[in-house]
Amino acid sequence: MKAGASAGRTRWLDLDLSRRLSAYFHVPDGLLPGGLIGALRRWQREHLRRVLLKTVNKSPYYRERIGPRRAHSLLTAMSSSDPLDLLSALPFTLPADLEQDPEAFLTIGHGEVDGVISLPTSGSTGPGKRIFCSAADLARTTAFFRNGMRYLVRPGVSDGGRGDRVALLMSGDRPGSVGDLLSRAMADIGVACSAPGFVPPGADGEASAMDALLALRPTCLVGVPSQVFGLARNERARALGESVSTVLLSGDTVTPALRRGIAEGLGCAVFVHYGLTETGLGGAVECPERAGCHMREADLLVEIVDEAGRAVPDGEWGEVAISTLTREAMPLLRYRSGDEGRIAPEPCACGSVLRRLYARGRLSERVPLPDGGMLRLADIDQVLYALPFVRGYAAILHEGQGGPAGMTLEVDLSAGNEAERASESLRRIREALTALPGARVAESESAAAGPGFTVAARLASGKADAAEVRRRQAKQVLIRQQFSF
Ligand SMILES: [Zn+2]
Repeated sequence: MKAGASAGRTRWLDLDLSRRLSAYFHVPDGLLPGGLIGALRRWQREHLRRVLLKTVNKSPYYRERIGPRRAHSLLTAMSSSDPLDLLSALPFTLPADLEQDPEAFLTIGHGEVDGVISLPTSGSTGPGKRIFCSAADLARTTAFFRNGMRYLVRPGVSDGGRGDRVALLMSGDRPGSVGDLLSRAMADIGVACSAPGFVPPGADGEASAMDALLALRPTCLVGVPSQVFGLARNERARALGESVSTVLLSGDTVTPALRRGIAEGLGCAVFVHYGLTETGLGGAVECPERAGCHMREADLLVEIVDEAGRAVPDGEWGEVAISTLTREAMPLLRYRSGDEGRIAPEPCACGSVLRRLYARGRLSERVPLPDGGMLRLADIDQVLYALPFVRGYAAILHEGQGGPAGMTLEVDLSAGNEAERASESLRRIREALTALPGARVAESESAAAGPGFTVAARLASGKADAAEVRRRQAKQVLIRQQFSF
């Protein structure tokens, strides 16, 4: 058995939550009134009221947005009824607001800020999103990583150099970045961790990343889904899989086909993490059941809302909106993430009290179809990544009158499939694309101008995986909006 495969089935996140709540309510560990779930809801109620009080008193943005009279009536109502029931009375916070004037969200002095993460701006106004963190904010995220990663690695096993080793396929050099906090978390539990960084674009970049990984022989990889997928379809995937037993994917959508491709290519267990830089990086992570990400509910209050901002019932898809309950530097109320998600209505088989979130991509990564349906980037991932000879693709949209009329997909084949099997591969790709919702598969690009939404496929023309490079560049823009690596 590979190292790490026996990381165990202890509910680490619940264990940590129980300790935290027991300390807060001054009761012996495990003797929480109302049990862990009752104590968690009470904690959420008390902290939601506290965060409202803090933001209207200290953040210029919320002071102006909510106003003193409304703040007073909300706080009065929260003291007589359940604050969680009043969540929908609070205003949403939009990404554009944060971009416009990040400093207006600060509730501590500049001297108390311990980390600043800058995110690129999507428009031309304002200084761009800057996310401020206090030392305690960073410590809470590190603790979440420490507990979440215990599903993937065994702590403190040095074992003559044969213990678990984590390789971060993202940059860990900037203080407060995901890589930096994960490195700190691994150091805390005595697990070796190195950060070879993002997989550079192109075949040569992937080859050099593979060289570095084969020298490191990690037992656990942490990376961006499409990049780890590329490694799992690389000709040396089997050699890498000899050491790797667990993979954590973060920063982008994970479809079942992508997960299966990585699990089979590397012979490992694949876990998913969901989080936003804006709400403190670590957000939710899968347990060994690997059926949705358990949310960090003591620190984040997650809602799913429809386009009009109304809460939707558990189980239904909508936009993920997050309120921070414990952020010191920059608390946020009902921050609209731009991500599509749903909350699992039933408890997880692992027995955790923490509810589970499923995410299926950015709302901006959808194309409205003439029949009223939606085509998601995740739909294309699911169809193409399910084919064993595909390692990446680029999607090019064709604009028609009043909306997109069609799309051309440039598909990269994995090594050994480029030449002799190319026409057979293209036939199978076209056949698979008929499963895309609302799309009519065209034989060629010139035929893509027909009625309805047409999809044409061609093979990427070889040199240094040009299509894969473009897809990564496009995706990384989206990834950087969520994460600062
Ligand atoms: Zn679970």
